[in-house]
Amino acid sequence: MTYIAPIAEQRFVLDTIADLPGLARLPGFDAATPDMVDAILIEAAKLAQDVFAPLNAPGDKAGATLADDAVTLPGGFRDAYARYVDGGWAGLGARPAHGGQGLPFVLASAVQEQLTSANMAFSLCMMLSQGAIEALQAHASPELQATYLTRLVSGEWTGTMNLTEPQAGSDVGALRTRAVPHADGSYRIEGSKIYITWGDHDCAANIVHLVLARLPDAPPGTKGISLFLCPKLLPDGDGNWTRRNDLRAVGLEHKLGIHASPTCTMAFGDGGGSAAGGDGGTSAAGGEHGECVGYLVGPEGGGMRAMFTMMNHARINVGLQGVAIAERAYQGALAFARDRVQSAKFGVGGAPVAIIEHADVRRMLMTIKATTEAARALAYFTAAAVDRAHAAADPAAAGRADLLTPVTKAWATDSGVEMANLAIQVFGGMGFVEETGAAQHLRDARIAPIYEGTNGIQALDLVGRKLTADGGAHWRALFAEMRQDIRDLPPKGDLATLKPYLDDALAALESATVWLTGNSGDRLTDTAAGATPYLRMFGITVGGWLLARQAVVAHERLARASIAPAAGGDDPAFLRAKIVTARFFAEQIVPQATALLGPVTRGAELLFAIPPEALAA
Ligand SMILES: Cc1cc2nc3c(=O)[nH]c(=O)nc-3n(C[C@H](O)[C@H](O)[C@H](O)COP(=O)(O)OP(=O)(O)OC[C@H]3O[C@@H](n4cnc5c(N)ncnc54)[C@H](O)[C@@H]3O)c2cc1C
Repeated sequence: MTYIAPIAEQRFVLDTIADLPGLARLPGFDAATPDMVDAILIEAAKLAQDVFAPLNAPGDKAGATLADDAVTLPGGFRDAYARYVDGGWAGLGARPAHGGQGLPFVLASAVQEQLTSANMAFSLCMMLSQGAIEALQAHASPELQATYLTRLVSGEWTGTMNLTEPQAGSDVGALRTRAVPHADGSYRIEGSKIYITWGDHDCAANIVHLVLARLPDAPPGTKGISLFLCPKLLPDGDGNWTRRNDLRAVGLEHKLGIHASPTCTMAFGDGGGSAAGGDGGTSAAGGEHGECVGYLVGPEGGGMRAMFTMMNHARINVGLQGVAIAERAYQGALAFARDRVQSAKFGVGGAPVAIIEHADVRRMLMTIKATTEAARALAYFTAAAVDRAHAAADPAAAGRADLLTPVTKAWATDSGVEMANLAIQVFGGMGFVEETGAAQHLRDARIAPIYEGTNGIQALDLVGRKLTADGGAHWRALFAEMRQDIRDLPPKGDLATLKPYLDDALAALESATVWLTGNSGDRLTDTAAGATPYLRMFGITVGGWLLARQAVVAHERLARASIAPAAGGDDPAFLRAKIVTARFFAEQIVPQATALLGPVTRGAELLFAIPPEALAA
């Protein structure tokens, strides 16, 4: 199934929701001129459509394989990665001081969306490397930056993120991997990690593992965790990166989806990974038999803070995976619905019609289209807040990015699964058989609500930390802006119809927020019980508002075009569809948010009313 990057849509959302023209005026972002943005989206689309997308189904079938401590990717992936590197894509959002292009994160995210739609399993390699770049830019010493960052930014090497251990999943503070200080200032890492994405592969010359570990005298819990950089290969005596560090992939998971993404069990310092002998391990380059050399990133005990730099970016990009998969699933379902002929139209009769003419199929397609566009708007809005926080050192933007990151991650990925599921329904039986590709989208999408912190943990983060940050200033500021926009909608016409739905949902969201943040002591279990439906109501309401913003711009541009049609600009059909889509989402989806006020505020009583042993009865 082919993929066509939705460039016009991406451009519109970048302009209207991320305010890319405004971002380009901030220090460091002046390269993001309109021409440059267009060129990037068009060139990235070629890579996504022509190079990454054709490998998606074959990669799913072949999967990554592990033999002799080395992972081999499916055919074509190595060449495709080389094309990605040659195009300079790895350094799009990285700082120029490290060889990057210094473009806004939101623009790099739009490119990442295209690559993910084309081939989610493959795009994880790029996503993890971007996160490693972010973490090293923010926290590594100049020496580590000089050695490792430039090679990550060029794409010559790739990065990974190593948190999870069998007993430490959501509970990262339970991790046991040890880091022992070495006389030369480096550390020796001992332990194992599970589920490490792109933990080994044959695309790049070296792999930079960022590993969370605990010093011998570290306090328990997250405070005792530090971050270490462990390269797969170390320099030999001549400065060539050829000597194995003692770390390796010892297992590969068999998974529901993303088969081409190697999900590795990693062993650090167990004696099995290094080249026997080495140089005797006398230098900081280390790596003698049985020793995994690591270098501290940031201060001792600062591991969670450093890793959060990486994870916050990754969480927004995982949210975008939901958008990307929903977009790809939509394109497939739409093409099928236009082709497949079944039955006469209900209540009309006559000849059988293409199923796109049936109201129920239209409902499914509109639901996918509107939800995907709402989730994309939320993801770009959040990514742009990250850019504003960094480039303008704007604490309000930082607070907004923090508030919206768990919503983006969880609502967009839940939507990705739901929309990929709905797309299968459009295909009927052909969706359930593998050859259309619709099933792969659902299988691939299913991981996104789980990794980078499960969506349940995101919801707890939202109600437990993000709502209460700075005395609730960030949700208050966001809701005030939303209320003003809703108030400013015109009193008559298409846009006026959005108003009551958005008004009701925002009022419900505000009530729920006040109720959740008002609980304390024993009642915090009630807050936890309402967290997941609350996050959903948050995502839907903000999504509906951002679609309304787009509809207002579409309306203005259409009005301008009717006065001066020769002026060019967006396609009128695209602009009219924006207004209809915003209305559909407001009328058909947003009421679900309003209706969640009850479930959010009902408390935990019924959840615990049946004891665990009786649940099985
Ligand atoms: C394909 C794949 C790729 C991955 N890639 C990486 C990677 O590159 N690097 C890495 O470090 N990890 C990676 N992971 C690990 C992933 O981040 C974890 O699986 C995830 O954080 C959940 O941890 P867990 O599996 O131990 O589940 P658990 O933590 O055991 O959670 C099980 C269930 O309990 C819920 N739960 C747990 N604690 C709480 C709580 N306090 N309150 C409410 N509910 C709770 C969870 O929400 C979930 O529903 C990957 C996993 C997979 C499957």
